[in-house]
Amino acid sequence: MTVHYQADPSVIRSKTVAVIGYGSQGHAHSLNLRDSGVDVVVGLRAGSASADEAREAGLEVVSPAEAAQRGDVIMLLVPDQHHKSVYEESVREHLTPGKALAVGHGFSVHYDQVAPPQGVDVFLVAPKSPGHLVRRVYTEGGGVPCLVAIHQDATGGALDLALSYADAIGGTHAGVIETTFKDETETDLFGEQAVLCGGSEALIKAGFETLVEAGYPEELAYFECLHELKLIVDLYYEGGLARMNHSVSDTAEYGGHAIGNRIITDTVKGEMKKVLGEIQSGAFAREFIADQAEGGTKLASMRAASEAHPLETVGKKLRGMMGWLKPKAASSGDGASEPAVPASASA
Ligand code: NAP
Ligand code: MG
Repeated sequence: MTVHYQADPSVIRSKTVAVIGYGSQGHAHSLNLRDSGVDVVVGLRAGSASADEAREAGLEVVSPAEAAQRGDVIMLLVPDQHHKSVYEESVREHLTPGKALAVGHGFSVHYDQVAPPQGVDVFLVAPKSPGHLVRRVYTEGGGVPCLVAIHQDATGGALDLALSYADAIGGTHAGVIETTFKDETETDLFGEQAVLCGGSEALIKAGFETLVEAGYPEELAYFECLHELKLIVDLYYEGGLARMNHSVSDTAEYGGHAIGNRIITDTVKGEMKKVLGEIQSGAFAREFIADQAEGGTKLASMRAASEAHPLETVGKKLRGMMGWLKPKAASSGDGASEPAVPASASA
């Protein structure tokens, strides 16, 4: 695995970068690039909720099509399910030979939602972190780890360009790992489905329900199965499994080693392999894209079911009692607060 800790900053500084979208990743890329001496223009649709914020930060905001026309590098940082329409409506006609199309995640290119022409470079720079951390760590003089990959190298300079871009957003401080669109996309989807979002939410709910169905108070079940998970994950993040096992009591460590494999059994792992197969075959991508095409009704109903879980009611009440948990800043309208401890997940 090749990891880069330096890149030539002049490569990206000689280009105009059009950043389309100013959400979680878009604001961080735009500001970090600008502060690294790169010419940046932000592309946002008419009436965009984020346009004022971008202008107040001193950035130039134009339409997505004008940004694409002016950009030598066109970085698509709108949600993955909108890449196709934004590309077709605003980018395609301006993606002339010698330019570069870039993405922050390989989904749309890997699953053929966006099919760039010959003659242009196509690369990805995917920070392994939410956008607000990409910005914050950069302002503190550092950077978060990034992945880079090349889908198409028309100019012969795609990798140097991608590395220079990753350097300008701070990535080389932590390390920029070379990968492929396939590996980045498929591992990212698998991680969020099996472990980070899907797996952890299902594990939390099953634990909570087991305690509550056995007659224990919901409040205790919430603390044990959700609240304390953060403290454990922080230890994983700082020092891996050993740090966690060192820090908890011997009782907890013994119980963990002895019981964990009875919870996440070979059956569960078998299901993980099936899930990975559906990601690799494109079946998951087709299902998600079809739901989005129908207005995202399946997503909305699954989201509503998650929000209706009793864990959410008791959690809201308990978090209200914990003053230090009050959200510090809204992040790109998703209602999430900034994490108190840097999170490595980019799901
Ligand atoms: P996001 O915050 O949801 O992006 C919101 C931005 O996209 C807003 O500026 C919004 O404009 C614009 N937008 C949304 N729909 C649009 C449309 N149909 N036409 C034009 N503009 C539209 O997205 P994100 O989470 O940053 O993700 C961007 C990319 O980065 C994705 O490819 C994602 O996979 C990747 N990525 C994300 C993370 C992460 O932590 N979030 C990490 C690594 C990679 P308005 O203001 O007009 O609504
Ligand atoms: Mg992800």
